[in-house]
Amino acid sequence: MTLMPSFAFMILPGGPAIGWLLLIAAVFFALWAQMKVKSTYSKYVNVPSRGGITGYEAAEAVMRRAGINDVEIVRTPGVLTDHYDPINKKLALSDHNYRGTSLAALGVAAHEAGHAIQHKVGYSMMNIRQTMAPAVNIAASFLPIIIFGGIFLRLLPFGLAIDIGIIIYALLTLFHLVTLPVEFDATARAKQELSALGIIAVDEAPGVSATLSAAGWTYVAAFAGSLFNLIYLIMARGND
Ligand SMILES: [Zn+2]
Repeated sequence: MTLMPSFAFMILPGGPAIGWLLLIAAVFFALWAQMKVKSTYSKYVNVPSRGGITGYEAAEAVMRRAGINDVEIVRTPGVLTDHYDPINKKLALSDHNYRGTSLAALGVAAHEAGHAIQHKVGYSMMNIRQTMAPAVNIAASFLPIIIFGGIFLRLLPFGLAIDIGIIIYALLTLFHLVTLPVEFDATARAKQELSALGIIAVDEAPGVSATLSAAGWTYVAAFAGSLFNLIYLIMARGND
């Protein structure tokens, strides 16, 4: 899951109007996605599954069926902080999703197990994403310096600062693009496994689907946010 704070919006006085509209659209899209995931999660966190299996047990069952026995399931603080860590082979579930039996908990737990399966089978998009991650993290950490120091305070030549910004946003956009198939694939695996293992009944599947689809929109919003920032900078460069 992991709701990544991937937005760092540019404020260029006198920037292109259409670029401004794109940025405003991206902000609203991101806010809408955050609201949607929170409201859908809080709805289905209150719908217990009839099977009474916990998120922990579901993640374990999904991984066992895939022949994965070297991934540790751990409890992590917070809400929707669930993630799979391929480097340390840890599947981290937030408190409710770890011990809860709700449709939301089962969906999220199985989704993270889906990432563990991707890792085991060497799913190509996940490999690309993992390879890009260190460079993307470093590039993203430079973004505030470039925006505020380079572009806002003009500590760098304007054209150079914009060019660096374009490179960083291009990298972020590509990263968020590669993330989309990884997330959608993990969700598809989760739904399939929960049904195949009989952890959820047919009439419970829509609740699981709704929770995971809502989470999926946050990744689409992150992609759109990076892309719109990239377009905005390219337009600003043309205007300069
Ligand atoms: Zn995921």
